Amino acid sequence: MIDSIGDKMILNTDIEMPGLGLGVYQAKDGPEVESAVRYALEVGYRSIDTASVYGNEIGVGKAIRESGIPREEIFLTTKVWNEDQRQKRTLAAFEESLERLELEYVDLYLVHWPVKGCYKETWKEMEKILASGGAKAIGVSNFLVNHLEDLLADCQVVPAVNQIEFHPYLLQPKLLAFCKNNRIQMEAWSPLMQGNIVSVPLLNELALKYGKTSAQIALRWNLQHGVVTIPKSVTPGRIKENSEIFDFELSDADMLAIDALDQGKRFGPDPANFNF
Ligand code: NAD
Repeated sequence: MIDSIGDKMILNTDIEMPGLGLGVYQAKDGPEVESAVRYALEVGYRSIDTASVYGNEIGVGKAIRESGIPREEIFLTTKVWNEDQRQKRTLAAFEESLERLELEYVDLYLVHWPVKGCYKETWKEMEKILASGGAKAIGVSNFLVNHLEDLLADCQVVPAVNQIEFHPYLLQPKLLAFCKNNRIQMEAWSPLMQGNIVSVPLLNELALKYGKTSAQIALRWNLQHGVVTIPKSVTPGRIKENSEIFDFELSDADMLAIDALDQGKRFGPDPANFNF
């Protein structure tokens, strides 16, 4: 069980990944992302999730380098974008990410989306990046069970992580079970349903019961499912609020009640049918 902000999940390569990280999608490069990352690190976050397509790797890298925290204590994720996969330039895209970050390595490099006809070839390049030490772990994002089965059929390295949309309205129990059975760590994007978490009645009730906020209830539910969570905020009060999820535990009955909210609802694109 994850009981403190420093607690980690063990990935299938024996590398450790913090259970909580800061997501920075839509945080503007420059002062906005820099101050969000700086503040998150100050209040104890040790994991940051960015992507080349977010356009803020420069600011993320700067805030990490200037934090004064030893590099090895911070877990940084970035991702290869779809167009780079299509153009068969995963290795080049990775080098460009490192240049923007001005860092020697990333902790986790992800295939951002399962681009049809490309992702298996991309994965071979990801395996080379892992072997070179440029990334300490490699994984995927937005992979459904069929994508994972296809990849596992002939990969050398099993993905360490699958980062997918995951929240109380989108539980995906089959995907969760598949990942657990194959030692692929699940990681939740949009864990706060892009802000809609505040209007879920059950979560508001549980917030009152536990003396927490509905966002904290949802994030704690992620952790108790063994799912890494990366809520996004650039607002200091919320960054701190989202990290205060280690001093309470949801009962089994309340976990099940939240599970029962599942309605297969997505706030983001469907990995089975995306056009970018
Ligand atoms: P999220 O569910 O984390 O919601 C973020 C929004 O919720 C914020 O913009 C803010 O409006 C609101 N919010 C934040 N803290 C709050 C709080 N305590 N109370 C109330 N509202 C609050 O959504 P997200 O940004 O889509 O996802 C999180 C991270 O996941 C991203 O920043 C990114 O790093 C990653 N992500 C990855 C993918 C992918 O394809 N791999 C896709 C989307 C997001």
